[in-house]
Amino acid sequence: MLNAIFRSIFGTKHERDVKRMRPVVAEIAALEPGLQALSDEALRAHTTELRRRLADGAELDDLLPEAFAAVREAARRTVHMRHFDVQMMGGMVLHSGKIAEMATGEGKTLVATLPAYLNALPGLGTHVVTVNDYLARRDAQWMGPIYHALGLTVGVIQHEMQYLYDPSYASSDIRLAALRPVTRKDAYAADITYGTNNEFGFDYLRDNMQFSLDDIVQREHHYAIVDEVDSILIDEARTPLIISGRDRNAESRAPLYEKVNRVIPRLKRAATIVEGKLSEIEETAEGDFIVDEKARTVSLTDQGGTYCERLLGIENLSDPAHIETAHHIHQALKAHHIFHKDVDYVVKDLETVDDQGRMVLQAQVVIVDEFTGRMMPGRRWSDGLHEAVEAKEGLKIARENQTLATITLQNYFRMYDKLSGMTGTAATEAEEFAKIYELDVTVIPTNRTLGRINFSDVVYKTEREKFDAVAAEIAERHAKGQPVLVGTVSIEKSERLSKLLKKHGITHQVLNAKYHEREAEIVAQAGREKTVTIATNMAGRGTDILLGGNPDFLAKALLSRKGLDPATAPPEAREAAWLEAKKATDPEHERVVGLGGLHIIGTERHESRRVDNQLRGRSGRQGDPGSSRFYLSLEDDLLRIFGSERIQRIMDHLGMEEGEPIEHRLVTRAIGTAQKRVETRNFEIRKHLLEYDDVMNKQREIVYGLRREVLAGESQEETVLEWIGELVGVVVARYAGPEAHQEDWDLVGLNEALHRQFDFRLPDLKVDEIASHQALVELVTEAAEAHYRRREGEMGGEMFHRLERWIILGLEWEGGGFRGINQLWREHLLNMDHLKEGIGLRGYGQRDPLTEYKKEAFDMFQEMIGSLKETAVEQLFKVRMTQEDAPTTRVSHRATPEWQESRGGDLDTAPGRPVTSRPEPRTADGQKVGRNDPCHCGSGKKYKKCCLLKGA
Ligand code: ADP
Ligand code: MG
Repeated sequence: MLNAIFRSIFGTKHERDVKRMRPVVAEIAALEPGLQALSDEALRAHTTELRRRLADGAELDDLLPEAFAAVREAARRTVHMRHFDVQMMGGMVLHSGKIAEMATGEGKTLVATLPAYLNALPGLGTHVVTVNDYLARRDAQWMGPIYHALGLTVGVIQHEMQYLYDPSYASSDIRLAALRPVTRKDAYAADITYGTNNEFGFDYLRDNMQFSLDDIVQREHHYAIVDEVDSILIDEARTPLIISGRDRNAESRAPLYEKVNRVIPRLKRAATIVEGKLSEIEETAEGDFIVDEKARTVSLTDQGGTYCERLLGIENLSDPAHIETAHHIHQALKAHHIFHKDVDYVVKDLETVDDQGRMVLQAQVVIVDEFTGRMMPGRRWSDGLHEAVEAKEGLKIARENQTLATITLQNYFRMYDKLSGMTGTAATEAEEFAKIYELDVTVIPTNRTLGRINFSDVVYKTEREKFDAVAAEIAERHAKGQPVLVGTVSIEKSERLSKLLKKHGITHQVLNAKYHEREAEIVAQAGREKTVTIATNMAGRGTDILLGGNPDFLAKALLSRKGLDPATAPPEAREAAWLEAKKATDPEHERVVGLGGLHIIGTERHESRRVDNQLRGRSGRQGDPGSSRFYLSLEDDLLRIFGSERIQRIMDHLGMEEGEPIEHRLVTRAIGTAQKRVETRNFEIRKHLLEYDDVMNKQREIVYGLRREVLAGESQEETVLEWIGELVGVVVARYAGPEAHQEDWDLVGLNEALHRQFDFRLPDLKVDEIASHQALVELVTEAAEAHYRRREGEMGGEMFHRLERWIILGLEWEGGGFRGINQLWREHLLNMDHLKEGIGLRGYGQRDPLTEYKKEAFDMFQEMIGSLKETAVEQLFKVRMTQEDAPTTRVSHRATPEWQESRGGDLDTAPGRPVTSRPEPRTADGQKVGRNDPCHCGSGKKYKKCCLLKGA
């Protein structure tokens, strides 16, 4: 009540926002005459001038009026649209990093040009995000002339293709008019880049899988304008982006575990280093491996190494080609000699999903918490140890496909320094935008008063009766000639209605959001007389429905019918076609207006009010007449599941007869309540997904950050020396702790550990010559650094430091590879997947699974970083790299020849995208190119010395 009074005096928040913007709108208008007097060159020079002032310290906000005025003038000259005042306001809202709610047909495509231009001035790029490839292309081509007139470049990112807008470029395909193919990097280097959320997100993930900075295509995430922002940030956000694939060793790894596992029982124990006791180890001790119970590691003796090489038919285990094998021997030794069944783990049948997606029971290794004795399903040991234990127990370890990189759209878009969005329907989801993205919603008034009539819902008892009534209404309006657009919730329902209409003999079109381009052409004509269009809610979105038909689309069709290509047809022919089209659409427009405009029929209420509003919003654009009505039945999911009792009561109260609909505001209100309930539930689901992803998001930032730094070519010497220092500290503390008496120091054990980790021993270590634990740490650190320098000297600084970077990254090539971030992160992602699944299987009592997940994910990540340090230093000290092995020139990614991009996750209902793969290099006759084969580029060099290195 108070609220209502307050509102009537001061207006709503939105009204106040709008009021505040009016003076700026006036300021922009005042600049117009001056700009109109400028020549085209002078108008373009405006950009240079604004950029200069920016460089001199002006703020973007100060430049807004002039920048917006320049865009308005450029638009007027080029695309013959002059931004309306309300569009100026929309632009301001977008510039301020908020969401502008502007109804369908208000010209949001044009609105975006204002902030896109202004925010592109600093030269850091602006991304305009659309819901599909077709719209990205269309908008870039449509708005391109405006930016072009102002001297800015425009890129378009498509699935596997990308362009720069270039009016001088003659394309042979009308759909690609004025689009010049360029590299992905060039498209991103443009001032403004149009593309879909999927492509932007996948490019980000791919960038972070590259092995060379040259292959990274995106720049920073400066500013994004998300069109249809509710679709992208809410509907699509239910499923994360995932790049998965079988990596180079996927096929060879499972057999490798098994092969190595078979070798282990044949090896003989040389010695055991036991807790708290000095152990005697002689260099010449017979045996293949030494078990260190204190460090919980096992290492091969020289003899054991040679024996393994013989058993496995390998020449040299220290060769980069066999790093994986050497690593797995160590893990397998640990699995057999340190980790004990029913102590450290149990083997248990657990539910899991098999390759065909069926739930099955499968024997699995389940870790037992060493402190609490609790079983921890889902938790996996890192660094290949879990697989080694699985091999030991004879369990299935083959994993065909695994996640290589993943991110939710929420977390992708939150990376932008400034984010903004526009849509016809945001207000109902304002809370979610605020909480998740810190995005405020401002509702912009329409340019003209809305003329659409929204009839109240009618409810039938059964779905059959409902559809009969829908068909009857369509038939009636169709007979008069009025165009009707029918929305359905699924392809199946569309088909059902289509059959019914066929029985009535009504011609119609069915769209289901499969062929965006073709469907856009059909929807564009949905406002013609006697047209009936059935569409699922995504179909044809973003396309303007003009009453009486769209002359542009019609003109194109006329040209094609005459056998002319609309792209290359002479201007006179195009002009003639357009006039002819206009001649047809103009009177038709009048007739359709007379019939009441476009009528919308909803065949079911959607789970969210927002989607219903989207459907309604397709009619009544820019002051057009129009109407809408929703048909429901008690058998609809929404009513059945969420509103049944209440609605049933109302129904009973009002009395309902077979075939008789009910139309009452109480029903409409009850349905609204049901929808709100579902909206809240769906929001919770998305929040939940995000909470889980946030954990990994932090880890991803750390890992990607480290990767970037290494790729940037900066020397990692400092980092590695730091790691060495840390590792030394840990090792020395284990064998000669600061608390321990000097006579209890286990120097023999220490020396073995040093040998294992750093590949050197300290000769003549005498306890009585070392003053303290600290002195010992310093002595060992010095020795380790000296060894580091020795390796550097042997190999030559440049080669050594390059090797260092390759090792940290985990570079892989055919016939060799290191273990670094790449492998460990990949394994970590797999383990995180298992953890997420497994955490649900645990009996928790009072504990919150999310808290448990966070805690364990943190532990796992720490373990992974620890493994990275250990394994990197170990390889750096041990790897024997011959010139032949070394990938000497620039190395590019080709570690994962088959990446698949997909949308997946907890809720797999969102529209997915086709799974695509990147083919491996093949010869002309389709054969896979071998490493030693002559390169397919014809250079005459071996493939491994040529394109393999360039990543081609
Ligand atoms: P929205 O995305 O808001 O639904 P569109 O960007 O598809 O709207 O534009 C709808 C229609 O309005 C288009 O046909 C466009 O040409 C027209 N339009 C937009 N702004 C203007 C303007 N300032 N002057 C004239 N026509 C405009
Ligand atoms: Mg639009």
